[in-house]
Amino acid sequence: MTLAIKPRSSLEGQHFQVVVIGGGINGVAIARECARAGKRTLLLEQNDFASGVTSRSTRIIHGGLRYLEHGELDLVRESVRERERLLRERSHLVHPIHFLFLLNENSQRSAMKVRAGLWLYQRMAKKKSPDLSEMEMARVQRSLDAGHQWLMLNFEDAQCEFPERLVAEWMLEAAATGAVVRNHCEVLAVDIGQGRARGVLFRDRTTGKDQRVDASWIINCTGPWADRICQRSTVRMKKPMLGGVRGSHIVLPRFSGAPTAALYTEAPDGRPVFVVPWNEQILVGTTEVPDTGDPAKATASQQEIEYLLQTAAALFPKAKLSAHDIKYAFAGIRPLPNSPSDKPSAVTRRHFLHDHSDEGASRMISVIGGKLTTAASLARECARKIGIPVEEPKAVTIGPGSSLDPLLDQEVIEIARAGSVSEETARGMMEWHGQNAMDIARMALVGADLRAPICPHTSHIVAEVVEAYRNEYAVTLGDVLLRRVPVALGACWSESCSREAALRIGAVMGWKEQEFGANLEQFETERAAFLQRPARTGSALEAAAD
Ligand SMILES: Cc1cc2nc3c(=O)[nH]c(=O)nc-3n(C[C@H](O)[C@H](O)[C@H](O)COP(=O)(O)OP(=O)(O)OC[C@H]3O[C@@H](n4cnc5c(N)ncnc54)[C@H](O)[C@@H]3O)c2cc1C
Repeated sequence: MTLAIKPRSSLEGQHFQVVVIGGGINGVAIARECARAGKRTLLLEQNDFASGVTSRSTRIIHGGLRYLEHGELDLVRESVRERERLLRERSHLVHPIHFLFLLNENSQRSAMKVRAGLWLYQRMAKKKSPDLSEMEMARVQRSLDAGHQWLMLNFEDAQCEFPERLVAEWMLEAAATGAVVRNHCEVLAVDIGQGRARGVLFRDRTTGKDQRVDASWIINCTGPWADRICQRSTVRMKKPMLGGVRGSHIVLPRFSGAPTAALYTEAPDGRPVFVVPWNEQILVGTTEVPDTGDPAKATASQQEIEYLLQTAAALFPKAKLSAHDIKYAFAGIRPLPNSPSDKPSAVTRRHFLHDHSDEGASRMISVIGGKLTTAASLARECARKIGIPVEEPKAVTIGPGSSLDPLLDQEVIEIARAGSVSEETARGMMEWHGQNAMDIARMALVGADLRAPICPHTSHIVAEVVEAYRNEYAVTLGDVLLRRVPVALGACWSESCSREAALRIGAVMGWKEQEFGANLEQFETERAAFLQRPARTGSALEAAAD
C-alpha cells in the first residue's frame, strides 16, 4: 500500500470572520470555540500545531497551588475548575497524579503555610485527595537524602503527558465544525489600514507561495512570538506586551528509587521545582531565566542543566545521578506579561486579552500568557470578547476513551481483535487516539506493514502514522513522530530508531530514496533542536554526582 497526500488549495482572497494566528493550545482552543459557534474561521500555524511552548511545558494540568502564595485565588479557582473538566472530558489524555510536597529543615516555606495552602487547595477542588500508600511514602523517604528531616504532604493534581495529542484533538474538532486549519503557514504581516486590522498575508511553507486573506477579526495567539507579529504589522505599540521567561527541563531515565508520585519541592535556592514521572522517564524542571531572544531558538543553558541535575542529585543521592544520565533537555519561553520590576516567579500566570484598538489596529486581539490548564476557558473568554455569545459550560460531558468507562478493558480487547493487534498496542492507541482508535485498528487490519511497530521498541504501529498524515494534518515526519504519535519523546529513541521508523513509514507512504533521505534529515534536525543532548564532559555536571 502507498499513500498519496492531498495537496492544499489556495485560500487567496477568501474572507474569514476570524483568523487565529498560532496553533499552540490557546490558538487551537480559540479556533475551535469560534468554529463551533458557526464563525468562518481560519487557523494558521507557522510550524506544526503544538510545536511551540505547548510542547515545552511540564505537562501538568494543575490548579496552581503555587498561585496561592501570590494571593491569586481567582486564578486557582479557574484552574481547578478547568482541571476537573479536562479530567472528565479527556480522561484518556489527562490523568490524576499524586503529588508529594517535600519540605525539610532548610525549606523556605514553613510546614504550617504549606499545610494551610493544601487545605485551601483541596477545599477549592471540593474533594479530598487520596493519600499515597504508606508503602510508597516509605519508599520515597528511603530514596531521599537521609541527611535531612523530610516532611511529605500529599495532594493530587493532573497530568497530560502529551498535550500535543490534546491539541491535535481540539484542532480536529475545530476542523470538523468548519474551521480551515493550516500548519506550516507563517503569517508575514497583519494588514492594517484605516485604524483596523483587515486581513493577513501568509506564506504556505509547503509550497513557498504567499496568500492574502481578509478577516473581520484577527486573534494573535502566537505565545512568545506575540510582539513579533505586531512589529511586523505596523501596530503602534508603546511597549512590548511580553517579558519572556525561559523555563528548562531535563529528562532522566527512571533511576533506582525514582518516585512513582510527582514531587514538588524546593531547589537549594528555594525556587519551586518538580520531579515528575513522565513517559516512562523522569522530568525535572523548571528554571526561570529572562529571555527576549527568538522563541524558536530557546535552549537550556549549561547552567540551567547543571542546576536541575544538582537539584535532582541532592534529593536522591543514592541514585548517583550524573550528566551521563541526562537523556535530553528542552526549553521554552513562557509568554508572561511584561513586568520588568517583578521577579520572574512573581509575575502573574493569568492570561490577558490585549485589544489593539488604541494602537491603530481595532479588531485585533493579542493573547498574553495562559496555561495548558486554562486554555479552554481562555478561548471562551476570547470568543466573548469578539462578540460570540459563549456560555460557561455547566455539565461536564464524558469524553472519548474515558477511564471512567467500565467498558475500557472490553474496548481494548475489541480494538485488539478488530485490528489483529496486541492488547498493548490497542491500549496505547486508545490512550493517544481515544475513540478514533477503533478506526485506526480497522485500517491496520488491511496489511501487515500497517500493523508493524513504528520502531522495534514501541507498541505503537504504522497505521497510527498513516492516520496522522491522512486525517490529522501532519506534513513532516517531525509532525508525526514528535506530536501526533509522539514515540520519539520516548525513553529509548535513538538515531537508529529514526532510521528504522522512516524506512517502515516510507514503505507505506511510497517515499522514493531521495524523499526518504530528505524526510529523515529534516526530522533529525528538528529532533536535535528540540531535545538537546547536553555536553557530557568537564564542568560541574560531572561533579554533581559526588
Ligand atoms: C517551562 C514551561 C513549563 C510550563 N509548564 C506548564 C504546566 O505544567 N502546566 C500548564 O498548564 N502550563 C504550563 N506552561 C505554560 C504553557 O505551556 C503555555 O502557557 C502555553 O502552552 C501557551 O500556549 P500558546 O498557544 O499561547 O503558545 P504556543 O504553544 O507557543 O503557540 C504559539 C504558536 O504560534 C506560532 N507562531 C508564531 N509566530 C507565528 C507566525 N508568524 N505565523 C503563524 N504562527 C506563528 C508558533 O509556532 C507556536 O506554535 C509552561 C510553560 C513553560 C515555558
